[in-house]
Amino acid sequence: MPPAAVARPPGTPGKAEPPGAARPPRPMPPQSAKPAPTARPAGSPRPAPSPAEGRPRPAGPGQAASAKPDSAAAAKPRPPVAGVAGPGGGGAAAAAKPRRSIKVPLQKPLGQILAELNKVTPEHLQEALALRKQRGGAIGAVLVDLGYCEQADVSMALAVQAGMARVDLDELEIPPDVIDKMDSMTARSYNVVPIEFDVGRLRVAMADPTNFRALDELHMLLDFEIDAALADPAAVVRALDKYYAHAESVESVISQLDQTAEWVVDQEESIDLEDIRAMSESQPVKKLLNLVLLQAIRDKASDIHFEPFEDDFKMRYRIDGVLYEMVPPPRHIALAVASRIKVMANLDIAERRVPQDGRIELTMGGKPVDLRVSVLPTMFGESVVMRVLDRTQVELDITKVGLREDEQRVIDDLIHLPNGIVIVTGPTGCGKTTTLYSALSAINTPDIKIITTEDPVEYDIEGLVQVQINPDIGLTFARCLRHILRQDPDVILVGEIRDLETAQIAIHSSLTGHLVFSTLHTNDAPTAITRLLDLGLEPYLVTATLEAVVAQRLVRRICMNCRAEFEPSEGMLWDLQLTPEDVRGRTFYFGRGCEQCNNTGYRGRTGVFEIMYIDDALRDLIIRGSSTNVVREEAKKRGMRMLRDSGLMAIYDGITTIEEIIRATVTDQ
Ligand SMILES: [Zn+2]
Repeated sequence: MPPAAVARPPGTPGKAEPPGAARPPRPMPPQSAKPAPTARPAGSPRPAPSPAEGRPRPAGPGQAASAKPDSAAAAKPRPPVAGVAGPGGGGAAAAAKPRRSIKVPLQKPLGQILAELNKVTPEHLQEALALRKQRGGAIGAVLVDLGYCEQADVSMALAVQAGMARVDLDELEIPPDVIDKMDSMTARSYNVVPIEFDVGRLRVAMADPTNFRALDELHMLLDFEIDAALADPAAVVRALDKYYAHAESVESVISQLDQTAEWVVDQEESIDLEDIRAMSESQPVKKLLNLVLLQAIRDKASDIHFEPFEDDFKMRYRIDGVLYEMVPPPRHIALAVASRIKVMANLDIAERRVPQDGRIELTMGGKPVDLRVSVLPTMFGESVVMRVLDRTQVELDITKVGLREDEQRVIDDLIHLPNGIVIVTGPTGCGKTTTLYSALSAINTPDIKIITTEDPVEYDIEGLVQVQINPDIGLTFARCLRHILRQDPDVILVGEIRDLETAQIAIHSSLTGHLVFSTLHTNDAPTAITRLLDLGLEPYLVTATLEAVVAQRLVRRICMNCRAEFEPSEGMLWDLQLTPEDVRGRTFYFGRGCEQCNNTGYRGRTGVFEIMYIDDALRDLIIRGSSTNVVREEAKKRGMRMLRDSGLMAIYDGITTIEEIIRATVTDQ
């Protein structure tokens, strides 16, 4: 499954996006509480996104959020008042004993402050104090080493201890002219919010006011005296989102780029490596990419496309399976953008003639984001597509993929089988991967060993052993599978059954007591049988192991905010192969379009399913070599709901529209 946007038949939905929205699969650090807007059509003005937070980066604005803390850690001198070893130590006695000659204000022990801030439990604090007695050092460091609190919490407590002013950003209403004293990129880069201005002195709120290096740099950048006040890290992020929402957009950066003809390159072929390197390092390009990525993540885009043509440079986002064209960046920066992305993905920027694949891992707005990068040389330069794997947006919950209650029960039985093969089938982007991962998550307990072989690994899930196949070095699904069996698994996910060898090992695995999940690319469930037999499998092996085939599609959900009833025309019903008689008494819905859905009428997606349970009657037909049609008819007779029928039910339930179901479930039988 290549991440590139190549060769997708028109009208098929995007790839591997989860239906439903966001619950992180594991606990996340505090982050922006602001709900992200969804689909936004090309060209509409939009709020500026928030870059990586929590990491003041002295390198300044424009850097595409880097995953490295850079000098932030280094730039963290202790506050002079609190001291490192002294009263900061937290031992009540030590802190409360001022020296005779020097006047030291009575300070609360650091540990107590941390406890009061709810950053550490009394039990953990006691444990840390006991440990500190043995090994010495600062209580803050001991707590961090034990994993009981974060360095940021300790810094905050030290600031409290040092008597730093604290502000409640949520309570504050900051005047626009104060916000204007600092531009969005600076505020976001340093994770500070300006709160007060008075004759050359700017007061900022930040999570770590002891970061003097950041304060120094702000002083140099802005030419104001800088005063720091302490604020809750999450409140800083909220305030940045609130006050800088409209400050800087991709569009505004692009319009600035338009005016700079820095890299007007006539002959991209002859440009030398040093120039490319310089371009990829240029601030405007970094800034643009940073904003593009942030916007894509906010809009829950699954893919970002950069496409150079002869005269223009297109940028498109895929959201809920549909491509939206964005404001195009100027053509002359195409090479710089591609090079910048290649640098970030550790690809060879000197190589521009062969396709390259890579990966970028970064933190955006405090969330881990993985990008899979595909670079493809085209007629007019490199086309770059980035697949966004935002793990926090993926909800791997089998009860939320769109299964109806009866379907849910069948799936529940299937995923708890001791052995057998379950196949999920459908075209690229039909949601197979999300469904399978959700199924695995449902049975992912310490007493079950699950191993996956994937191409590529789309989400990494705690508790699963995941293997990335790599045909270039001979690590194929088949070879991987053979080795996996020696790893004593209970459940195996085979990314895709592409050849006879893989199919045979999958069957062998099932016969030796493993539950095997896999995928195929067929339009419906019955065709999957034909596909397996076509690979060269013996029918009796298929019937001995195959438990069920699940065909799936993703359809867009009607926006509940603007959903309205309507009367479909006879023509529309005809497209669904229905007559007005068939739908008497039914209500149909569509989305009028509103602010919340960016006037698309849709928000998010859901799966529709066709579950073919292989029972004895079907086994009999398969053994006898019956045609796909015969198998399909029998399955229908035995209660299989076809994709189109599931789609109809979703229409009647007011979940999706006639258009979506027609698009997603072309009946070619
Ligand atoms: Zn709406």
